[in-house]
Amino acid sequence: MNMPDTAKWLEQMRSAVGAKGFTTTGEDMAPWLTDWRGRYTGAAAAMVSPASTEETSAIVRIANENAVAIVPQGGNSGMVGGATPDASGRSIILSLRRVNNIRAIRSDEQLVVCDAGVILQNLHEALAADGQRFPLTLGGKGSATVGGLVSTNAGGTQVLRHGTMRSLVAGIEAVLPDGSIYEGLSALKKDNRGYDLKQLFIGGEGTLGIVTAATLKTVPALVDRCVAWVAVGSTDAAYQLFRFLHARVPQSLEGFEIIPQTCLESVLRHISGTRPPLAGGQPWHVLVEIVRDQPDAPDPKSIMENLLANALERGLIEDATLAASEQQAEDFWKIRESIAEAERANGPALQHDISVPVHGMARFIDEASPVIEAKFPGTKVAAFGHMGDGNVHFHVKAPEGVEAQQWMRESAKQITPLVHDLVIAAGGSISAEHGIGQNKRAELERLSSGARLSMLRAIKMAIDPGNIMNPGKLVPLASGQSGS
Ligand SMILES: Cc1cc2nc3c(=O)[nH]c(=O)nc-3n(C[C@H](O)[C@H](O)[C@H](O)COP(=O)(O)OP(=O)(O)OC[C@H]3O[C@@H](n4cnc5c(N)ncnc54)[C@H](O)[C@@H]3O)c2cc1C
Repeated sequence: MNMPDTAKWLEQMRSAVGAKGFTTTGEDMAPWLTDWRGRYTGAAAAMVSPASTEETSAIVRIANENAVAIVPQGGNSGMVGGATPDASGRSIILSLRRVNNIRAIRSDEQLVVCDAGVILQNLHEALAADGQRFPLTLGGKGSATVGGLVSTNAGGTQVLRHGTMRSLVAGIEAVLPDGSIYEGLSALKKDNRGYDLKQLFIGGEGTLGIVTAATLKTVPALVDRCVAWVAVGSTDAAYQLFRFLHARVPQSLEGFEIIPQTCLESVLRHISGTRPPLAGGQPWHVLVEIVRDQPDAPDPKSIMENLLANALERGLIEDATLAASEQQAEDFWKIRESIAEAERANGPALQHDISVPVHGMARFIDEASPVIEAKFPGTKVAAFGHMGDGNVHFHVKAPEGVEAQQWMRESAKQITPLVHDLVIAAGGSISAEHGIGQNKRAELERLSSGARLSMLRAIKMAIDPGNIMNPGKLVPLASGQSGS
């Protein structure tokens, strides 16, 4: 493509969205060209921000006609470089942040219809005012958008009871790579017209089209909750405690997070205002949340007290304390939510967002950690997170005194593949909730069966034959296919 062509389609895009939704200025685009973790920086010919589904469709049509690659972007809080363009400067960032209306809250049906650019925290607030709740939350909620959450099939800390985005999306509206609009917002309980097409966009990372709106399921707002901090002697004790609680209160157990003593120490060292919930240093801790969202349901505090007293008698736990106030409950959660930040302050670490079957997580942590630490002397593993979902963040910390950048670069080539091999051997997944993006694409290719790869490629090429939708992300195309 020659320069006059580029100038022509840029002008077409500018007039489709107006000056307010269009920029080619480096300064305007700079914050959106680097990912949240600061690992990838790209370049773009323009950042285009449509204000409606129709404008989005017009932009995609122009891009398709001119073979321009589109990188969809919401809050840019993703963890795998999925929203960062490549370095060529030939693609556009298509930002959905201006498409941000909550179209309808239908409390009687427990549904909300909202545009892709609605920020998660704003959605929470709007629903709270209506006595409803969208039961998905995560540390990036002040930036993450509905479109990004859908496209990464995000998880967070309430998956145990409510599932990931896949269970919370009832309908999708999307713009396909040729600019046509897929209208699937209707929340049908029964619909047997073949493949469930919305599922292609959930976790699709913008590789099949642009999500412009979604119908999401809501639940009643919480009446109250009880949060407990529990000390346990081992990962297996944590798992036994999980089984014990889940068997008794499956409908009200909303959080079950495992935290090693080393991570608690990091938080206490680096995060101001944090205090240890319990005296003494047990090797492992568990954050448990039991909730009630119906006024006539049993009181979560009495449930928690009874269950933990019983667990203590059975020798499942060493000690426990219940948050005495909502503020203390927040303080306990702050410890959990600050681990990533505290671990970063501690020094360089390779991070792996992995899952194995729930029953196998305790054993995975116990067996994989010494394998890694023995093979790479001086490293230390810290595994923490959503144990009730079989998902932990498996961090491998660098040996003391190494040069951070160089260690990260070199060890990523050796340590990460070994962690992933161990995950696959345990029947798990190399991406539990963050997605593949550009960060894990090579590993996905290395570790996927031929059947998985050929289905991924066939779907991608059938829906986006020109490979204009987020090329270089998620799908490892075969040579000869138009991958970047
Ligand atoms: C502090 C912190 C904590 C986090 N904790 C969690 C956690 O616990 N669980 C979890 O799952 N994630 C977590 N995340 C990751 C992140 O918040 C989620 O991946 C979120 O879904 C990204 O939303 P976003 O709008 O920022 O998307 P972006 O980062 O902008 O994009 C993410 C991907 O989706 C695509 N995309 C974005 N919008 C659209 C659209 N409208 N249509 C098509 N494709 C689109 C992009 O191209 C990219 O591939 C955390 C992030 C932060 C910063």
